Amino acid sequence: MLPKITRRRVIGLGLVTFAGTLLPTFANGTALGQPDKFGLPFAGQPGLANWFVRQWYGNTRWAYRQRRAIYGAGQGLHFGVDFFAPCGSPIIAIGDGIVAAVDGPYGSAPHNLLVRHPNGYVSLYGHLSQRSTLRVGQQVRRGEVVAFSGVPNGTDCDTRAHLHLEIRTSNLGGTVNPIPLMEADWPNLTLGLPDEGLEFEINLDNPTQWQTIYNQPAVYFGRALLNDFARPWPG
Ligand SMILES: [Zn+2]
Repeated sequence: MLPKITRRRVIGLGLVTFAGTLLPTFANGTALGQPDKFGLPFAGQPGLANWFVRQWYGNTRWAYRQRRAIYGAGQGLHFGVDFFAPCGSPIIAIGDGIVAAVDGPYGSAPHNLLVRHPNGYVSLYGHLSQRSTLRVGQQVRRGEVVAFSGVPNGTDCDTRAHLHLEIRTSNLGGTVNPIPLMEADWPNLTLGLPDEGLEFEINLDNPTQWQTIYNQPAVYFGRALLNDFARPWPG
């Protein structure tokens, strides 16, 4: 169940309140709400056959090993959160917003969708199985089905299907760690499965840096690698 959101229009001010925070209405006058935190991109319960977290954002061991091959443009880090989800699983908007792009030049092939939220962040839903039928400029509500999960290369649906979810900065030039921005029981969403995407690479010259799911750096596309450690562990 998604948490209930209470929304109240402040007549004449063009503002709405969410959990005590005043937010402006969008340009067309429709109030789009934003709770304190985003929700999860799936409606049902996690499970092996449903969805679960497969790779955290940031300095993961998988990203370290692929820092040049796959993640070089993102400073060597995994710049989103991966949720395993069988191909065709419905994906819901993590917050109210307005569609910013459909299959734009933002990676995560074969299809992606971007939604701009009132708090300034833009959510990106990637590796989708089909082009979204939503239109740029269209409003979406938190919890509304906006896309369907797929797989990066279009095959291996059984084992590699996942949603790559990013939270981009307002100018789309970088990403931030989604974990602190989303309301979820994170530690239990991996189902306890081992995976190098769920562990963090250690820099022996600064061994406590970037070692928790909550403490991971922002990524700016096109800048230098952040994890080209001189003394990595396990390497
Ligand atoms: Zn990913």
